[in-house]
Amino acid sequence: MLYLDNSATTSILPEVRDKMLTYLTSEFGNPSGKYYDLAKNADLAINEARTHVANLLSAKEIEVIFTNGATESNNMVLKGVADQYSDKGRHIITSKVEHKAVLDVCEYLETKGFDVTYLDVDQFGRVDPHDVERNIREDTILVSIIWGNNELGSLNDIPSISNICKNKSVFFHTDATQVIGKVEVNWNNLSGISFLSCSAHKFHGPKGVGAVIIRSDQYGKLIPITPLLHGGGQESHIRSGTYSVHNIAGFGEAAKIAYKNLEINRSKLEKLELKLKDLLTDQFYDKVSFNSDNKNKIPGIINVRFIGINNEILLKKLSPIIAASTGSACSSTEPSYVLQAIGLDLRSIRESVRFSLSPHNSMKELEVFKSL
Ligand code: PMP
Repeated sequence: MLYLDNSATTSILPEVRDKMLTYLTSEFGNPSGKYYDLAKNADLAINEARTHVANLLSAKEIEVIFTNGATESNNMVLKGVADQYSDKGRHIITSKVEHKAVLDVCEYLETKGFDVTYLDVDQFGRVDPHDVERNIREDTILVSIIWGNNELGSLNDIPSISNICKNKSVFFHTDATQVIGKVEVNWNNLSGISFLSCSAHKFHGPKGVGAVIIRSDQYGKLIPITPLLHGGGQESHIRSGTYSVHNIAGFGEAAKIAYKNLEINRSKLEKLELKLKDLLTDQFYDKVSFNSDNKNKIPGIINVRFIGINNEILLKKLSPIIAASTGSACSSTEPSYVLQAIGLDLRSIRESVRFSLSPHNSMKELEVFKSL
């Protein structure tokens, strides 16, 4: 079966699995212990993983706060900033095409008296940086804009948006879950980003682990936010809870491999994407159209409309040979709000499918499209 739903999740690499197994079996210590090797070895594993994640993003090790995934990371930042800075203001800016793990938190915050501006996007799902600037007010405490869209693959102009926020002294958060491991992210050069969310299972790491990267000042102090979880004080008291050592070790290994292969993988994904588009065009001619832009995007994610064919019926029919989805796995029962936001009508949305590739797909296996 050809797996083309890598934006939903990816397979675990053998090196990642092997690394995790060590911490699921012999090295089962709690890294917060101090006196014996089992604890010290687990602590070393956490620190090694932290180094790999920091390297992948060009961040400092102390800025990496491990969480159980991007949903938690997004919740932590939005609720944590809202709680910590509500005296300063109660206005938040986001966009209409964020993942539900941002949008639903914003809706929740609205019930707590916060005012949220949901920015429109262009035909490919991008936010206009000028719109961000125009909407920042005296009482704006946070701007949260997705880096790369999970349904369309479009990249936002994060350097410009983060710069605007920096100049206006407003915190900026970006959900970078879909871009990590596929597009170069240089946190160090983008000092206007205050917080960044990511997740291991989108780039061949395990599910249930991710991170929030939090900007530190020259003294190594992180931007203060109210923690989501209080308890044992792990992760600089920002994220308490016994470490999921095997998951964090697996995340580190996936980050190490992604860092090493970033360029090769990007170029592979670009070639695979071109091949897939060619195959679809050859096979379906004018019965296929592309909702995604073909530039300035995450390589390997395409959103395709099969004109006159219902997407659910198509995907069910294809499921024995090709695995793909209609959009986000986290809101797959409703017609895509992302495609609505870019102006597609309901009929076109019901005919649209997302294919998301992995660098571990091969040109050869894509040829299954020739037999459709
Ligand atoms: N943000 C984006 C853009 C995503 O694609 C996802 C995964 N669907 C998430 C957040 C949630 O990530 P996790 O599965 O790690 O909670």
